[in-house]
Amino acid sequence: MNYISTRGEAPVLGFEDVLLAGLARDGGLYVPEVWPTLDAKTIAGFAGIRFADLAVEILSRFAGGAISRHQLERMADAAYASFGHAAVTPLTQIDHDRFVLELFHGPTLAFKDVAMQVLARLMDHVLEKRGARATIVGATSGDTGGAAVEAFRGSERLDVVILYPEGRVSDVQRRMMTTPVDDNVHAVAIKGTFDDCQALVKGLFNDHAFRDRVALTGVNSINWARIMAQVTYYFAAATSLGAPYRPATFAVPTGNFGDIFAGYVARRMGLPIERLIIATNDNDILRRAHDTGVYEMHGVMATTSPSMDIQISSNFERYLFEASGRDVARVRAQMNGLAQSRRFDLGEQAKSMRADFAAYSASETEVAEAIRHVSVESDYLMDPHTACGWVALKKAGRGNGAPGVVLSTAHPAKFPDAMEHITGKRPPLPDRLSALLTDRERFTTLPNDLGEVKRFVESTARAVSEGAA
Ligand SMILES: *Cc1c(COP(=O)(O)O)cnc(C)c1O
Repeated sequence: MNYISTRGEAPVLGFEDVLLAGLARDGGLYVPEVWPTLDAKTIAGFAGIRFADLAVEILSRFAGGAISRHQLERMADAAYASFGHAAVTPLTQIDHDRFVLELFHGPTLAFKDVAMQVLARLMDHVLEKRGARATIVGATSGDTGGAAVEAFRGSERLDVVILYPEGRVSDVQRRMMTTPVDDNVHAVAIKGTFDDCQALVKGLFNDHAFRDRVALTGVNSINWARIMAQVTYYFAAATSLGAPYRPATFAVPTGNFGDIFAGYVARRMGLPIERLIIATNDNDILRRAHDTGVYEMHGVMATTSPSMDIQISSNFERYLFEASGRDVARVRAQMNGLAQSRRFDLGEQAKSMRADFAAYSASETEVAEAIRHVSVESDYLMDPHTACGWVALKKAGRGNGAPGVVLSTAHPAKFPDAMEHITGKRPPLPDRLSALLTDRERFTTLPNDLGEVKRFVESTARAVSEGAA
């Protein structure tokens, strides 16, 4: 399988190189040259199989020849053994036709583990084969950092440096990054905001000499392998509810458009999905783009669902590419417009977007009411991100009697302050994480300064001394 850039000016790459490249050299995102499709009989055969086996069915369609089926089986088994539930992503029924797909049973209690655990094994495998090392530098507003540290700790081939805004992530989120003892993972508190952290990472990637010297790579959701690994749970949930004979509706709490794009991919692969609902919090750039046809940045508001507090949805570019009929000149013009004037028009793409998705946002009041209501009526505790999905599903309706599935992207114990504020109770951490709050923390504090961050990365990256990929 070959991969092409959404901006059409980067080399066509195979799966292994896409895995390590993250962002394309022309600033675009990689997508498969063609979407693999599955027939109804194949999809029907997915019902009831183990999650790890289903993951291999999906991954093998994208890793196309680059990685053997046997290797994929080994990686998927190891990745999903780290989960605290035998079903990996269990489906819980909330009322007679609505369900919550629990994606938070991984080591850091958020859905990012589902993909990151696979990504780490894929990257390790490719670097091992090449006898090379690489360095991951990422910025996090909370969940990505912990998921990356957990997934890559102990790796022989990869060093991980995570930049987080000092004092602006929750205690649980910070401790997930700072308590692992492995010396290939480094948590760095930046004296600045999340946007500052992101700008620093961008600065590192833009210095091509530095990028090559440390074999810099990225694991945020612009990395294709993360999207790919998220496709699995759409098939798992839908087939257990009767797909391909009965389609389901999915409501997806969205920030960077990664998770919802994975649902779009599942549909392109042949999974019948009744409605795909984009669920946002008050930071509703995607809902506005859907309704008005204009994609326009506003300031970010802090909400109880911080992992969705974003200004720009970077994965949306992949959808713009598809919705324009893969018109790379148009995507380039739109991205330039965004950089220059913080907005662009969707034009004809707005029609596709309305045909492909519904979109609803949830206010802070609606989120709190939903959490309280579901907790009373169904004795089920949703976290605030999940609650955005629940509110959006209620507003959109399921369509044609399809069962409705809300993707639950975080465990409520990951956001104890918000939950206590809303319900009056602090949800306890699962037992397997009990040491988290007392283990010793280890981190470095750096100023918001590109030169200092470069020096730190070079001093820790084993790829520098031992030859980069
Ligand atoms: C990252 C994250 C999201 C948003 O996911 P995207 O793929 O960026 O849309 C939603 N909820 C939680 C808890 C997250 O960590």
